[in-house]
Amino acid sequence: MGFTGHAFVDWDDTIAENIRYFREVEAQISLLIAGRTGFDRDEVQRRGAELDVAVARQMGLVRESLAVAWLTCYREFAGRAGRPVDPVVEAELRRLCAIPYETRQELLPGAAETLRWLHEAGFEVTIWTAGEDAVQRRKIQESGLTRWIHRQTVVPEKTAERLRDAIGDRDPGHCFVVGNSRHSDIRPALTLGVAAYHVDVETWAYDHLDVDEEDPNYHRLTHIGELPRLLAQRFRLAV
Ligand SMILES: [Mg+2]
Repeated sequence: MGFTGHAFVDWDDTIAENIRYFREVEAQISLLIAGRTGFDRDEVQRRGAELDVAVARQMGLVRESLAVAWLTCYREFAGRAGRPVDPVVEAELRRLCAIPYETRQELLPGAAETLRWLHEAGFEVTIWTAGEDAVQRRKIQESGLTRWIHRQTVVPEKTAERLRDAIGDRDPGHCFVVGNSRHSDIRPALTLGVAAYHVDVETWAYDHLDVDEEDPNYHRLTHIGELPRLLAQRFRLAV
C-alpha cells in the first residue's frame, strides 16, 4: 500500500478532551440529586459513578447509558428519602446527560501536531474509536483535523477481534495502536501482538485494567507529543 506503517489512533482523551465534559455534567447532576433528596453530594456522585460503569458494561458505549445510569441513581436516592420522583428533575437530568455527547471538544495539546506528523511521515492514519457512529464522526469532523486522517473506524466497543478486522490484510508488524485506555486500546493490541503506545492520562473507571507492561510491544507515553520520536526509532525515520 506504500505506507510507512499503519497508525490506529484513539480519539477521546487521546486526541480530544472528553472525560472532562462528563465529569462537569456529573458534578452538576450529583448536586441536583443531593439537593432534591437530602443526601450528601459525594455519596450521590460515588453511587452515580458506580452505576455509570455498570450500565455502560451492560448497554455498551451508547449515549443513552449515561441518562439511564443517572435516572436510576436519582430514583434510588428519592426512594431512600421517601420522596416522589419528580418528572421535572428527570427531564433536567436527561438534558444534562446529553451535553457531553453534543459538546464541541477541545483538542489536547500536541494532538494536531502529532496527527500531522504521522500523515507527513507517510503513515496511514486510522482513527480507531468506540461509541455511536454519528457522535464519533461528528466530533472528528468538527475537529478540523480530517486532512491528516485517512480513515475513521467507529465500533461499539474495542476488542481484539474488532481490531483484527480493522487491521485487515495490513502487516500487523507495521501496525500500532495509540490510546489512553488500557481496556480499549492497549489490551486488544497486545493480545494481537501489535505495538501499543499508551498515552497514560486520566481515564474513566470503565477503562481501568491491568496490562502487562513488561510486554515488549507496550510503550508508555506521558504525552502524545512523545510519539514521533518513538516511532522514528521504531521505523528508522528522521524526526
Ligand atoms: Mg480514549
